Amino acid sequence: MRKVLIIGAGIAGLGAAVSIARAGDNVRVVERSTSLAVGAAISMLYRGPDALAELGVLDACIAEGTVGYLDSVFSRMYDSSGDARRLPQLPVRSDGMPSYIIIYRPVIARILSGQAEAHGAVIDRGLAVSSLNDEGETVAVTFSDGTSDHYDLVVGADGTASETRQHLFGDTAQIDYSGNMSLRWVKPDAPTGPVGFYVSEESVPVVIHPLHGGLVYIATGVDMENRHVGTDEARQLFREILGQFDAPYVRELLSVVSDDDPVIARPYLMHHHPRPWHKGRIVLIGDAVHTLAANLGAGGVLGLEDGLVLGQELARTESLDAALAAFEERRFERTSNAVAASREMLDAQVNRQASPAELHVIRERAVADLSKPF
Ligand SMILES: Cc1cc2nc3c(=O)[nH]c(=O)nc-3n(C[C@H](O)[C@H](O)[C@H](O)COP(=O)(O)OP(=O)(O)OC[C@H]3O[C@@H](n4cnc5c(N)ncnc54)[C@H](O)[C@@H]3O)c2cc1C
Repeated sequence: MRKVLIIGAGIAGLGAAVSIARAGDNVRVVERSTSLAVGAAISMLYRGPDALAELGVLDACIAEGTVGYLDSVFSRMYDSSGDARRLPQLPVRSDGMPSYIIIYRPVIARILSGQAEAHGAVIDRGLAVSSLNDEGETVAVTFSDGTSDHYDLVVGADGTASETRQHLFGDTAQIDYSGNMSLRWVKPDAPTGPVGFYVSEESVPVVIHPLHGGLVYIATGVDMENRHVGTDEARQLFREILGQFDAPYVRELLSVVSDDDPVIARPYLMHHHPRPWHKGRIVLIGDAVHTLAANLGAGGVLGLEDGLVLGQELARTESLDAALAAFEERRFERTSNAVAASREMLDAQVNRQASPAELHVIRERAVADLSKPF
């Protein structure tokens, strides 16, 4: 039995915790934040439902998510007046699996945490890693509470600004700001109406999805410089964007944005870390090695797949080197293609003001790639 430390309880870290603990290894997850998850909703598209099924949490996610079987999440598009846009449909699953599950982030974090703990993993929230020292046979780790321990394997699932990646490779990551700041809002008891993708005359998309329990999730973005945007400014920008639409449902939602509603602003960042993704006994997964803009809604799915695949490869062999090499082999090209497609879409959207039909063609190609088994 290996002793494994996972740094970060985001979707990648929790997926890895379930997968590795289930295979019988001794897993501890440390998460700097005390809260379960930051953010609004997340769509599990492409092979996301398959990864959830493999991790044994598909039914729980279906029970608490908004689920589509016969339509694609990208299939309902409206123009700024609210008239449906006719676009060729993207392929949907024909094997009985959901095409998408849209779920509140704290809910999927709770479900994955519960599953990891059921397999024996220990999750310590409010605890960060202070230092790592790969001593060859084990990695010596000290924590923010002053304690220390040794591990056979350390998994850096600590997000785009990964300190684990910095520790391994220095400042080699080329993290680009996409030029677009995401604005997201989850409203309880919001009015219901035609949900889907609305696109303004200026090609600004607003995504509206219902969530479980009467919540409605609305996401959009604004082109601006990369800087901190507080809640008040985010709410103001959000209102301005919704104000560009004549669609009755968007107007209705705009009318219920109140002055104390928290709107979350987060920059869309992009990077794909060159190989290797591991050094000695430390390996990186999720946004720590690949971040893409939300135009494909794929970053979380890819992180979840990473965690699952890492556990599968560790279970296959006693050799850590072989397992980490096999993990990287299975993940590098798939994630590289996804980041490239996300960049291409963003370039078409922001720099070329591409038409929805042109964007659809790029998305169709990316969807086909991401829908392949991993
Ligand atoms: C606006 C927006 C919308 C998106 N929508 C979707 C979507 O619909 N579908 C989808 O699949 N993807 C989506 N994504 C992408 C997705 O959110 C990310 O790819 C995913 O959350 C990354 O997960 P992760 O676990 O790799 O990293 P993170 O979620 O960033 O988790 C890393 C964790 O590590 C912790 N941590 C960091 N350092 C330390 C330390 N030293 N010690 C302990 N803990 C530490 C952090 O607190 C954090 O909780 C979206 C992204 C954005 C910005």
